[in-house]
Amino acid sequence: MNSDPRETTPPPERPESANSAAAQGDPAAAPGAAQPAAEPDPAAARIRIVLVGTQHPGNIGSAARAMKTMGLSRLILVAPEKPLDRDAYAMAAGADDVLEAAPILPDLATAIADCHWVLGCTARSRRIALEELAPRFAAERVDARAREGAQVALVFGRERTGLNNDELQLCHAAVHIPANPDYSSLNLGAAVQVLSYELRIAALAAAAADPAGDHRDPPASHAQLEGFFGQLGEALDAIDFHKGRAPESAMRKLRRLFLRADLDEREVRLLRGVLADVERMAMLAGQRR
Ligand code: SAH
Repeated sequence: MNSDPRETTPPPERPESANSAAAQGDPAAAPGAAQPAAEPDPAAARIRIVLVGTQHPGNIGSAARAMKTMGLSRLILVAPEKPLDRDAYAMAAGADDVLEAAPILPDLATAIADCHWVLGCTARSRRIALEELAPRFAAERVDARAREGAQVALVFGRERTGLNNDELQLCHAAVHIPANPDYSSLNLGAAVQVLSYELRIAALAAAAADPAGDHRDPPASHAQLEGFFGQLGEALDAIDFHKGRAPESAMRKLRRLFLRADLDEREVRLLRGVLADVERMAMLAGQRR
């Protein structure tokens, strides 16, 4: 009964209010266009929870509640089987603002069109050839990317069948909650709760580590890093670092070290400035000889 949304919650105070523009799929309500009231964390506003083909409106309500308790508010519904109903509002238990701001879109591709990183949550491990991330690690990465300005989506599948392979192909990686392998399928709302909780923990850790909200520069791109490695190789030659040995082994270790450092653009510029001086000094030393 993982799909049964019922629970002893008070009757909805505002039933059948699924007729907001966003909930009706108003084209003006593009993904994330309608935001519920004040969103304190700008990174959270870049994280969307996408529910695909949900069969029980009650589970949509549970997901909205799970999100709101953890400070998230961007819910997107992709082709739910039924409109929001009493069950949805009962299970939302006051997270009506999240429900009412949720656009209804026809397919997953539309829901994630402007996303930079998309994670598909799967109850079954290793269904397709996608990198599989543990929830905590995924949440830390999602939080970090959202803090850097990326739009990120966490996608959840249908109660009966999960996400289909075409939908998983649209995801950059999969997230699997390491549940009992013999009974690994959580209720949809519970799965949203676990991921939302991990996102909350990641956001609190990021806030504690950076209380002033000083944001890093954008991460260095592949091309910027390769430019740096090229210059590093030249600088090492200029100071005769390798002394006749093949340079590959040292370069491999240095690449690994700098890649692990997760450099941002400004840090790469700083390092390249250092290398330019190394090369200049080597040239001057050569001229003096
Ligand atoms: N019977 C379905 C499970 C659906 S549960 C299947 O076997 O795929 C509904 C959704 O909740 C899933 O599509 C997934 O997004 C999420 N979910 C449930 N259990 C999960 C788990 N252990 N790890 C990650 N996501 C899970």
